[in-house]
Amino acid sequence: MFKLGQTKMRRLNPDVLGHRLLLGNLMPEELEALMLQWEQPHYRAAQILHSYYAERRLDPMEMATLPLALRNRCAEMLVTMPLRLVTKTRSSDSTVKMLFELLDGSRIESVLIPREMHDGRSRRTLCISTQAGCPLGCVFCATASLKLRRNLETAEIIGQILAAEQVLGERITNVVFMGMGEPLLNYEAVARAIRLMTWGKQPLVALRRITVSTAGIVPAIDQLAADNLRVKLALSLHATTDTLRRQLMPIARRWSLDELLAAMERYYRTTGQPVTYEYILFDGLNDTDADIRRLLKIARRVPAKVNVIPFHPIDFTHPTGLAAELRPTSSTRIAEFVAALRHHGIPTMVRTSSGIEIAAACGQLALANAL
Ligand code: SF4
Repeated sequence: MFKLGQTKMRRLNPDVLGHRLLLGNLMPEELEALMLQWEQPHYRAAQILHSYYAERRLDPMEMATLPLALRNRCAEMLVTMPLRLVTKTRSSDSTVKMLFELLDGSRIESVLIPREMHDGRSRRTLCISTQAGCPLGCVFCATASLKLRRNLETAEIIGQILAAEQVLGERITNVVFMGMGEPLLNYEAVARAIRLMTWGKQPLVALRRITVSTAGIVPAIDQLAADNLRVKLALSLHATTDTLRRQLMPIARRWSLDELLAAMERYYRTTGQPVTYEYILFDGLNDTDADIRRLLKIARRVPAKVNVIPFHPIDFTHPTGLAAELRPTSSTRIAEFVAALRHHGIPTMVRTSSGIEIAAACGQLALANAL
């Protein structure tokens, strides 16, 4: 039986921090305890969190509500930005891919997908990573070839938002956990990051604008529901039969589609949140009429939408095995596939070509229009 405890993988080596602490790792009650240890009133913790998350003051010396002595101590003891920008690439459709280096030299990616909405507002969605590399080995994914280096710290997950805002000079409005790694295999850090992001009256990101995307870790889906974090949940489905799904995504050998879909159903029933199914179309493999029928059945179990994602083989695949045989579905067939789902009342979106020319990992494959 799979246990969440088994997902404890390597984390940041504490030696790189020395005597310092990552501010973004500290929950409000932990920061309060630290303040008491520093012989400060407990409310200083809320002042620090407000300065950091609501006002984006990343330099403790600029946390104006704190007395000078405490600002000095924070500057000495707390690491407020554990990421350094290495490269930034902007594609012609304004998608921006950022490569960050962490304190131990690990590298991760975050991708900004800006979108103008029909009502004239703009949405700036950041796709963030949760692991350096990924252990799951999906055959269509570039990140899979990186293997897993380690789990990210909570501070490194949240730090991607703060760093991206600094780099881009604009606020992030939406966050999707769809970058490098499987978020539910780094459950504790992800859950803490969600709690911190949504802390206080002026949260870093509103809860309704956070989506967690998973390849399908059944116990962790149940844990997410039990913890009542109430984020949107998306499942990388990509196949309507166990046979094909196991070929595309090795994690599917652990839990059958039946078990996985039952977990998605439980998530909906516990949280009331409609779910999303992500579906990359591969020519002749998962785009048949039979697939449409099976996908309809899946999408009707609970309120759900489907994000259909055209496959773009550029740099995404391993060169051998099934990966070498994956071909994109034609645009005509994509249109038929989507029309059939919509005709039967399933809200279905198709991803645009956003970011293709700056090829990235899992996240971009999964980033459909709707997010
Ligand atoms: S698609 Fe996602 S879960 Fe699969 S290997 Fe890539 S990063 Fe990991």
